Amino acid sequence: MECVEDLVGQTPVIPCPACGSPHCSLQTTARKAGVVVGGTLGAIIAASFNGAASGAAIAAVVSRRLPTTVTGAIGGAIIGFAWGALVGHAVGADIDVHVLGMYRCRECGFEFKK
Ligand SMILES: [Zn+2]
Repeated sequence: MECVEDLVGQTPVIPCPACGSPHCSLQTTARKAGVVVGGTLGAIIAASFNGAASGAAIAAVVSRRLPTTVTGAIGGAIIGFAWGALVGHAVGADIDVHVLGMYRCRECGFEFKK
């Protein structure tokens, strides 16, 4: 995951076909979508399946005022969202690099495929 992040994070040295500027960066469309989709799916899955179980420990620490099932589901959903967002981010970053491969020039705004 860190390798992909490093690949995407650093500025690729690819000159712009329109103006020749080296300041072009990889588009992160799939990565952004992956975080939202993955996070949402992760939250739903965690809340519906093991939210009460995995969140029970957090619920016990965070609050004893609310019913354990409610806080458990919320805690599970938060964990699920974080997990799903991480997975979605990694998958999306991979799609950005290997499938879409769209770059945008920061000088003139020209978009091109590598
Ligand atoms: Zn350009």
